[in-house]
Amino acid sequence: MVQLSDDSGRPTAGDAARRAVASVGDDAIRRAIAVSAIELLHSPGPEALIARILERIGQACGVSRVQLYEDKRDPSGAVAPALRSAWLAPNVAAAPQRSGSGTLAGQAPSLPAQDGAVALLARDAPEPLRGVLSAAGVKSVLMMPVAVGGARYGEVHFDDCVQERAWSAAEIDALRLLAEMIGTAIARARDLQEFSDISWVIDHSPVILYRIGGKAPFPMTYISRNVRRYGYDGRDLLSSPCRYQELFHPDDLPAVMTTITAIATGEVSEVIRERRLRDADGNYIWFEDRARGHYGPGHELLEIEGLLVDISERKNSELKLEQISLADPVTGLPNRKAFMAELERAYSAARRGGPAFAIHYIDLDRFKDINDVFGHSKGDELLKAVADRLRRMRRRNADVIARFGGDEFVVLQSEISDPADAGALAARLLKAIEEPFNLGMEIHTTASIGIAVFSPEVTGTEEMIKQVDLALYRAKDLGRNQFHFHSEALDAATIERVMLGGDLQRALDRGELQLNFQPQVEIATGRIIGFEALARWNHPTKGPIGPARFVAIAESNGTIHRLGRWVIDAVCQQISQWRAAGLKPPPVSFNVSAGQLRGAAEFDRELAERLRHWSVGPKAVEIELTETVLMETTQRHRDIIGRLYSLGVPIAIDDFGTGYSSLSYLRTYRVDHIKVAQEFIKDIKPGSGGIAIVRAAISLGRELGIPVIAEGVETRFQLDLVKEAGCQFVQGFYFSPPVPADRAAELLQRGVVVPDETGKPAS
Ligand code: C2E
Ligand code: MG
Ligand code: MG
Repeated sequence: MVQLSDDSGRPTAGDAARRAVASVGDDAIRRAIAVSAIELLHSPGPEALIARILERIGQACGVSRVQLYEDKRDPSGAVAPALRSAWLAPNVAAAPQRSGSGTLAGQAPSLPAQDGAVALLARDAPEPLRGVLSAAGVKSVLMMPVAVGGARYGEVHFDDCVQERAWSAAEIDALRLLAEMIGTAIARARDLQEFSDISWVIDHSPVILYRIGGKAPFPMTYISRNVRRYGYDGRDLLSSPCRYQELFHPDDLPAVMTTITAIATGEVSEVIRERRLRDADGNYIWFEDRARGHYGPGHELLEIEGLLVDISERKNSELKLEQISLADPVTGLPNRKAFMAELERAYSAARRGGPAFAIHYIDLDRFKDINDVFGHSKGDELLKAVADRLRRMRRRNADVIARFGGDEFVVLQSEISDPADAGALAARLLKAIEEPFNLGMEIHTTASIGIAVFSPEVTGTEEMIKQVDLALYRAKDLGRNQFHFHSEALDAATIERVMLGGDLQRALDRGELQLNFQPQVEIATGRIIGFEALARWNHPTKGPIGPARFVAIAESNGTIHRLGRWVIDAVCQQISQWRAAGLKPPPVSFNVSAGQLRGAAEFDRELAERLRHWSVGPKAVEIELTETVLMETTQRHRDIIGRLYSLGVPIAIDDFGTGYSSLSYLRTYRVDHIKVAQEFIKDIKPGSGGIAIVRAAISLGRELGIPVIAEGVETRFQLDLVKEAGCQFVQGFYFSPPVPADRAAELLQRGVVVPDETGKPAS
């Protein structure tokens, strides 16, 4: 048995062997270890590295084999060494498997060990180890334990098949270092494996980790890689560190920022909220956002750390459940419950001063017959088809269409300005339902509609439902296929307006409208400086209808654009005709209402186009806008006046003094005429103080250099007063009422207007 050398320097049986390897020496081993250590630091993969270390050490020591065994447990729980890596010197055969129970070194418990390392000559080894070693041709072996992470892993065996080798204490120390390195390499490999397992978990985890810096604008400083599940590259996100804020749903962003601020101020340190974030494809995904602040010693926020947990599945099923509970299964429309919630919302908004709204309660006429004749499934099909038609009639998103059950539908019409709006919609709904339904066969049906309009007097939504129910009952009672309001007064007025609305469409087609022209006159000379074109409607059965009435109807049923186009064309055509007749018409003004300017960009483009079409220059016409229209439109389409100016069309302020009192537009845009509203002129009676406003308007006009026209001057008395107040121009019955085109041509020919001294309208 070979003794390890001891400090006494007493010769041992191993001395000879030790001398024999002196040429190799522990220097070579140390060098090999140093090189291996450097490799270990830059190791690409542990397996290859261990093989390389074994080789290098084997060569440095001059042994026959270096083998790494791992302690494995067999099914009985006993340790069974397993070969993990081996280096063999040239011409040395691989050793048979060193099996046996217990650790290999442990099989020689009687051998002296130095910190677990055992060196022995094969012939000294106890059985069964001796047999194992001699079968492998081993003359001597050094068994060095390997620990990984503080626990025993196995052993490295240095086999010498040539000689009985003795190991110096220094060599053994050096090799122990080597065993440690191997242990480290194995530990690293395990860590890497574990790390890649963790990476796998993170990559497949629905949880995204993030960190946000503690100071405004709260840049993102970390985001876990798995954000790529949502199509983002984490590095890209971090390169524009505040971009994450743009990814929140616009509805959620304010709350997100409030939360961050609350954490920053220390108001709360931890917040759990549900948020929507946009993925790279633009879809919003629901997350649970758990954010927690980390604070410095002075309670200042250092950073916010958080988790985003994908909860879209849960949300979607919640949403579906909610939809199921709020939707009618046959038509997919909101059900009564959902409708009542919307109604409640519209009602309280209107109560707070929001827009008025109307409820339409629609009941199909004789639906029971359809069910009886064609069967219930056709009945259901019809309900679906009706629902589709109603859906298509919806003007705004705020309008709600619901099914109350059976053959009853309800429409919540949002933002109405007049009950006539509701009447107009009901008429359209009836018409839409009246069209035959093609459901494999043609089915005809009609409906009755009850309407309730919000008014501040209604006590609540329940009362409105009662009203609308009664109204429907009346509609049915009075013969079906019609609509009724909950109040008779509304019914009469609205039905007339709705009827007139329909008639107006036809009137435009049939040429029932015409223009009259009222001269604008210079007081001093009687000279005509302009004409105002005023629309007239000669209704075939109802007789003449004034513009004050039909313009309002046109506004509420959407005919206003057609009407407006017709006026522009008629004005241009008249100017062309007068010119063709050798007359020199002064500028002809026409009125433009708010509804016409709703699509303001269209209006000025269309006007330019029509003027070009008729070869009429922009100065041949003038646009009259009331202050209210002007203010409303400039608020919505800031530069409408500017654009009209760039067309070169003059602008007059109509009914001056009756609208908003803001005069700023007069300074910004130099309008071409101010027309003092006739209601002020009307007030000018002997002894009244009405002239004050006229005077004020005139001095304002003079200061700004804008000519003023007094409207509605009927009497000599009024004329004298406006003249005395400094007004140079008038338009009114005193000189002439609005007259048809041929009569206007006569006036033009004369060039001056002789006042009607009676002061009565001449026609
Ligand atoms: P407006 O633009 O202020 O037109 C002047 C109105 O005063 C005209 O009424 C005219 O007939 C009336 N009038 C003129 N002189 C006198 C007078 O001495 N005494 C009285 N009592 N009335 C006088 P009309 O034609 O009924 O038009 C009413 C309003 O309807 C117009 O007011 C204008 O705002 C609007 N309107 C008329 N035609 C059109 C049109 O073609 N398009 C649009 N959008 N609105 C129009
Ligand atoms: Mg006018
Ligand atoms: Mg006017």
